[in-house]
Amino acid sequence: MITAEQLADFAAALRPRLAGDLRTDALTRMLYSTDASLYQVMPHAVLIPRTTEDVIAAVGVAAAHDVPVLARAAGTSLAGQAVNAALVIDFSRHLDAILAIDPAARRAVVQPGVVVDDLNAALRPHGLQFGPDPASSDRSTLGGAVANNATGSHSTRYGMTADHVLAMDVVLAGGDVARFSRIAQGDKGAAAIRAAIAALLADEDNQRVIRAGTARPDRRRGRRSGRARLRLRGHAGGHDGHHPQSRAPPGPHRPRPAPCR
Ligand SMILES: Cc1cc2nc3c(=O)[nH]c(=O)nc-3n(C[C@H](O)[C@H](O)[C@H](O)COP(=O)(O)OP(=O)(O)OC[C@H]3O[C@@H](n4cnc5c(N)ncnc54)[C@H](O)[C@@H]3O)c2cc1C
Repeated sequence: MITAEQLADFAAALRPRLAGDLRTDALTRMLYSTDASLYQVMPHAVLIPRTTEDVIAAVGVAAAHDVPVLARAAGTSLAGQAVNAALVIDFSRHLDAILAIDPAARRAVVQPGVVVDDLNAALRPHGLQFGPDPASSDRSTLGGAVANNATGSHSTRYGMTADHVLAMDVVLAGGDVARFSRIAQGDKGAAAIRAAIAALLADEDNQRVIRAGTARPDRRRGRRSGRARLRLRGHAGGHDGHHPQSRAPPGPHRPRPAPCR
């Protein structure tokens, strides 16, 4: 939870560094409080960046003022990923350039707000297309596809988004910039990172912290499926020990409904 004063200080520190818009008015916040999911959460503020530098500045200043940050693109996510009590950064408005297409290498360089269908339209003359084809591709973006690891009806053949990302320039939580790219087999740096992660996970103190902070959806699922099983058996007549047919009302056999056409 952040206070109004904290938010005002944050906005005052960020605004002079921006080429884009930082909006804190109620109407904008209401518009960004929903996405394609069932959830509605008011953001603290909305940033519509014009440049990558706007994003870097916003994340750095947000970190310094303890303001949570949430990236957002077309908002077509179905599980509430694009709404939160945070500074929402909308990448879809201005950061939507296709920077390069190299047909021979079958590679493209894009900003995160590029709509999937727009990339495919640009690739079509070269006989290429982006592999994953989410059904929302007429508005969903590459940034959203990467963060959701979007798939589509042809993903069994062409793979998911993670299979197609070669490298990414990212802004880390503190506002630093890094480039992530594929790691070559046998890379010594990667082996060192894996060993360091394994050591962190093997530490019992760390395990306790992780367990304490991790939701247990498996427990909830277990209870739910248990309930569903009971209901089904009760409905079929098996729950009270009788064979289902012994509970059927007497009389003529009821006709089945006609199939839909
Ligand atoms: C009708 C319909 C059909 C759909 N069909 C499919 C389908 O076939 N396959 C499928 O996988 N999904 C499908 N979806 C879900 C959704 O459309 C996709 O996952 C899509 O890729 C989300 O993209 P978006 O641009 O709307 O992202 P958003 O919904 O805006 O954001 C998605 C996530 O990405 C993060 N994000 C966005 N931009 C950035 C960024 N620049 N940097 C870091 N994080 C970022 C957000 O924080 C959020 O967590 C469907 C949704 C609808 C409504």
